[in-house]
Amino acid sequence: MTTTVAPRGAGVLEIAEIVPVTEAEGPGRRFALWVQGCPLRCPGCCNPEMLPLDRGKSVSVDELLLEIGVWKRLHDIEGITLLGGEPFAQAAGLAVVARMVREQGLTVMTFSGYTLEELEQMFDPAVDELLRHTDVLVDGPYLRQQPETRRRWIGSANQRVHFLSDRYRADDPCWQLPNSLEIRLRGNELSVNGFPAPKAGRMWTRLRPMPGWRS
Ligand code: SF4
Repeated sequence: MTTTVAPRGAGVLEIAEIVPVTEAEGPGRRFALWVQGCPLRCPGCCNPEMLPLDRGKSVSVDELLLEIGVWKRLHDIEGITLLGGEPFAQAAGLAVVARMVREQGLTVMTFSGYTLEELEQMFDPAVDELLRHTDVLVDGPYLRQQPETRRRWIGSANQRVHFLSDRYRADDPCWQLPNSLEIRLRGNELSVNGFPAPKAGRMWTRLRPMPGWRS
């Protein structure tokens, strides 16, 4: 089942969550950004609070680029990771972000509930542009009944990893290391991101998965 998400302009993004430095959402240290809003309705959605478009925070592309620049200087981040929600529902703005950060030498990893073929068949210039500025695409919906147990950073076994540039390689050992989970206490808010190793499953069930399950 799908619902309509109004296309966003290139200047403003609806953001659900940001983790400015994480090692649990792709290779190296990364600035992870969960967008708000998804037109898909996967059974057992991993981030249901991120489905409505109107529950996020509006952030301008310029503001976001400034913030990424600060964290790049402070923590030498390797790249950004786009998750959601559905990043391609806000492809125009994210394509600008992706292009600009790549010009600064950062990499872009994008998770989508759509398959690569579905994205290509949209014939949407903004979608094509975001794909063009994505180094690694993880595609397909998160399926709770098919949990991934071997591939690092991947949520469910159906999801595929596409290396769309030469910045990363499938045979890099970093993709084979055990998964990791990060837990942060900010004020009185506990947040969790990343993906637990199978042996951490019991602990995981006691924690509220926000915002780290990837779609
Ligand atoms: S799992 Fe991901 S793609 Fe599927 S409905 Fe939830 S946010 Fe959207």
